[in-house]
Amino acid sequence: MPKRDPTAQIAVHRLVAPLSRGTLKRSTNPAFQARLLTFGVPRGHLHRATHASTGAGYVSPMPELPDVEGFRRTLRRAAGRTLERVDVLDGGVLRDVSAAELRARLDGAVLATPRRHGKHLVAPLRAPGRRHRSTEPSILFHFGMTGALTWVTDDSARHRHDRVVFVTDGGELRYRDMRKLQGIRLAGDDSAVDRVLARTGPDAASVTVEEFTERLAPTRRQLKAALMDQAVLAGLGNLLVDEILWRARLHPRTTTADLGDTDYRRLHARMMTTLRQASPTGRVPDHAGWLTGRRDQPGGSCPRCGASLARGRVAGRATVWCPRCQPAQPTSRACSV
Ligand SMILES: [Zn+2]
Repeated sequence: MPKRDPTAQIAVHRLVAPLSRGTLKRSTNPAFQARLLTFGVPRGHLHRATHASTGAGYVSPMPELPDVEGFRRTLRRAAGRTLERVDVLDGGVLRDVSAAELRARLDGAVLATPRRHGKHLVAPLRAPGRRHRSTEPSILFHFGMTGALTWVTDDSARHRHDRVVFVTDGGELRYRDMRKLQGIRLAGDDSAVDRVLARTGPDAASVTVEEFTERLAPTRRQLKAALMDQAVLAGLGNLLVDEILWRARLHPRTTTADLGDTDYRRLHARMMTTLRQASPTGRVPDHAGWLTGRRDQPGGSCPRCGASLARGRVAGRATVWCPRCQPAQPTSRACSV
């Protein structure tokens, strides 16, 4: 069994090895199952898959900020390599660019140091022997629900969901995506990159508490919806928002109008801690002390107080919280007698 590297990109062997040991239990989460399929788990094995409490074989149902941070580290391993060829195996993941244009613009370019903004990953290109210039193109990746990036330096076979393969002089960068909801863009220069990123809010991992408050407060929405809105703040998804709200002891249906300065400071601080702890793992970890570690357990209990976790749909998403640590706010203070 290959050595497990907590910072390594999630790969097929990390999933299939624990599955074949039979250590995983049943999961009926369709998003999680879709992600397993992406990673090559045979459909017939899905019923045995779940988020294992040991962390073995765990895969986030959908890439969030820490997952994309993991993909950034994957891409960084390819930095400095020269693109020799681009194999577009399925043009269904290309956004606003044709396969021919992608090949033409990338031929002979060198991959420069990548960066992440929210759930976007930017791969600037440069000419050999110098730094990236603002007039040069960048590849933009967005992983949607089932996207992933792998860096392959041996002759291992491509996966059937590898949609675009960037062949370099040192290995292959493979963009895999089963459902093809998002994908790959080509920005002609840095201002084109900025235009795409400007559709989203500031990156959640680098936003200041002042900016955080300024962006959330005017929305007057439920916290769950406001925090997941990429136009407000970029990078948070379903697992992260539940985790952060649990740590901040705020009910997901609390509205931003119900929060005072102290609440915003606490919420921002808990978000930063969560992101700082999750990012090195390349996923939202299912540690025992995390809500994420309990959310998929039948009858799961709060890691902090032991109360049975509550479940419901908030902002259209399956949401988990602790009814004791995160009491519901009155729906309207004006109406409470
Ligand atoms: Zn609790």
